[in-house]
Formats: sequence, C-alpha cells, structure tokens
Amino acid sequence: MTHSKKVTILTCAKAIHKIHCGECNWEQFIVAETDAPLKTCPWCGWNDLNISAISKLGGSQNIHCEKHGDVTVMIPNENMEVGDFMDNLFCPFCD
Ligand SMILES: [Zn+2]
Ligand SMILES: [Zn+2]
Repeated sequence: MTHSKKVTILTCAKAIHKIHCGECNWEQFIVAETDAPLKTCPWCGWNDLNISAISKLGGSQNIHCEKHGDVTVMIPNENMEVGDFMDNLFCPFCD
C-alpha cells in the first residue's frame, strides 16, 4: 500500500443526517456544510418533523484526486463519528 499524495482534502468531515420523512416516507441522507439542525424534508417540504425519524449516522468527507476528480467518501455507520476522520483518505479509484 502506498499513500498517494495526489489526493487533496477538500472539506472537513461532516455528519451524515438521516431523515425518514413521515409524509413522503422516503429515507434520505443529507450532508451539508452547516451544523444547523434539520427542519424540513428536502424531498417534499414537510416541516412538521415530529412524525419523522431524524438521526446522525457517521460522517462524510470530500477529497479531490488529480486523476479522478472530486470524490465523496461516506461512512454511514453509528459507530463512526465525524471526529474519527483523520484527513488522510485515499482515492478509492486509484491503486
Ligand atoms: Zn418528505
Ligand atoms: Zn484517483
């Protein structure tokens, strides 16, 4: 294994929000720059989220590979925290 230095870290790791909307019933994953709480279903605009299931699920980080461009790595796992990302991801398309 060789760590390619052609990868640039584009963003800090961000939490993956999971919302299961009680209105449209879609389970959705959302990653954003902001740390603000979710208030509206992005799919149908429903904003009474009392009937929706919202949680945070792992983290996501954007990297840029010289060869493959921008890549988003998401680890949607309840055992993973945003703080676990060490800013040293590899491009998954390089060998
Ligand atoms: Zn909805
Ligand atoms: Zn690559």
